Amino acid sequence: ATPTAITVGVGRAAKIGVLFKNASALEATAGLQTVVFDKTGTLTEGRPTLTAVVPAEGHLENEVLQLAASVDQSSQHPLAAAIVQGAKDRGLKLAEISDFDSLPGEGVQANIEGRRVQLGNARLMTRMGIEVGPLAAEVERLAKDGQTAMYLGGNGQLLGVVAVSDRIRTSAVQAIQTLHAMNVQTVMLTGDNAHTADAVARQLGIDTVIAEVRPEDKARNISELQGQGRKVGMVGDGVNDAPALAQADVGLAIGAGTDVAVETADVVLMNSDPASVAQAITLARKVRGKIV
Ligand code: ADP
Ligand code: MG
Repeated sequence: ATPTAITVGVGRAAKIGVLFKNASALEATAGLQTVVFDKTGTLTEGRPTLTAVVPAEGHLENEVLQLAASVDQSSQHPLAAAIVQGAKDRGLKLAEISDFDSLPGEGVQANIEGRRVQLGNARLMTRMGIEVGPLAAEVERLAKDGQTAMYLGGNGQLLGVVAVSDRIRTSAVQAIQTLHAMNVQTVMLTGDNAHTADAVARQLGIDTVIAEVRPEDKARNISELQGQGRKVGMVGDGVNDAPALAQADVGLAIGAGTDVAVETADVVLMNSDPASVAQAITLARKVRGKIV
C-alpha cells in the first residue's frame, strides 16, 4: 500500500473506533488468517452476575455465599465482583480476612476466623487436597449451561459451589459470522472450564476452543498457532492477555479493557465491540489493495 493509502486508512479506521497505533499494524491486520478471542470481557460483557449457590452436605447456602464473597472481597477479578455483589444483594455481611492470596488462573485464598478458605477451580482444589467428587456433577451441569462454577473449600473440606454467568456481547455472534465469511478462522482462548467454554463457543459459532489455559500459557498457545504457518490476531482485555497480545502478529485490545492490555496492543477497539475486528480487517485489506 502507498503511504497515502495507509494514512487515509488509519484515519478512516479511527472514525469507526479502530485505533491503529502505527502503519505496520494496519499492514499486518490485512494478512490475518486466524483471530483468537479471550472469552471473559471480550466475547462476553465481563460483568458476570451470581446465578447459583450450592452447599455441600451439612452446609448452608448463605454460609457458602458469605465465605465465598469474603475471600473474594480483595480480588480485582470480574468473577469476584459478581460474588461480592451477590452476597450484598442477599443482605450478607462480609467477614474480615487476613493473609489474602491470589492464585492467577486458579482462584483465591485467605484466612477467615481461623480457617484457611479457598475459592476457585478444580485445579486449585486438587492442589489443596480437597476432594471435589460430591459436587463435580453439579459443576459439570452448571458449566454445560455456560456458567462459571467455582468450588469453595475450608480447612481441606469441600463447603460448596458458587456459579456466575456473563452475558454474551450482542454483536459477538454477528462478528464471528462475518469473520468466517471473510475466510478468517476463529478461536476462543480462556482460563475457564472446558464445558463452560464449549457452551459459550457453541452459542457464538466459534471454530476452535482452547480452555483451562493458565495465564502464563496464553502466549504459547498463540505461538503454536503461528507455528502452523498462520498469521494470528489476538483480541483481549485482561492483564492476563498482555503476553498473548504481544506474541500475536496483531494484538487487538478491547478499549474498555485494562491499561496493560491497551498499552501492549497494536490496535485498540475503542467501541469494545468484537465486530470492530472484522471491520478492521476489511479496511486493512482495502488499504493493501490501495483502493481507499
Ligand atoms: P479467564 O481467562 O476466563 O479470564 P482466569 O485465568 O482469570 O480466566 O481464571 C481461570 C479460573 O480460575 C476461573 O474460571 C475461576 O474458576 C478461577 N478464578 C480465577 N480468579 C478467581 C477469583 N478471584 N475468584 C474465584 N475464582 C477465580
Ligand atoms: Mg478477559
